[in-house]
Amino acid sequence: MDYTPREIIAAFRAGLLEKVLKSNTIWLCSSCYSCTVRCPSGIKLTDVMYELKRLAVEFGLAPKDAKAPVVAELFAEIVVKNGRIAEVPLVGKFMLRTNPLGAFKMIPRATRLFIRGRMPLSSHKIKGIAELEACTGAMTAPMISGLHAGSAREERS
Ligand code: SF4
Repeated sequence: MDYTPREIIAAFRAGLLEKVLKSNTIWLCSSCYSCTVRCPSGIKLTDVMYELKRLAVEFGLAPKDAKAPVVAELFAEIVVKNGRIAEVPLVGKFMLRTNPLGAFKMIPRATRLFIRGRMPLSSHKIKGIAELEACTGAMTAPMISGLHAGSAREERS
């Protein structure tokens, strides 16, 4: 279901959190920060949208047919694992999850990119991955576990 940002905030204030977290609207936010920069009341709406997305994934309430939550989940997994994004695993896993037949159609283009050296198949971890894990471990662990099974919701019920 799509709502306007105003309706999202109104629903949130009315305590209709599940309605908010199930909506497509929060996934349409492209993080342009226009609202945050312009808000006369200093409301950081972009950060609110980020938090609503995180909660939607954690509680397993993100729309099942939406692709943005899949991208967010895969992006977080790869960055936590490598300390950086790796485009090939991201696109490959995304296509397999959302459109497996489409993945096969991309093979000719991917082959051309690989031959030209534009598509490395291996992904590298950053040098300070251990330090990064130490910094982000406490922060990312609940999110990642929530991303995989909606486990946080099950644990709380
Ligand atoms: S950052 Fe604000 S203005 Fe930009 S897309 Fe998200 S909600 Fe809309």
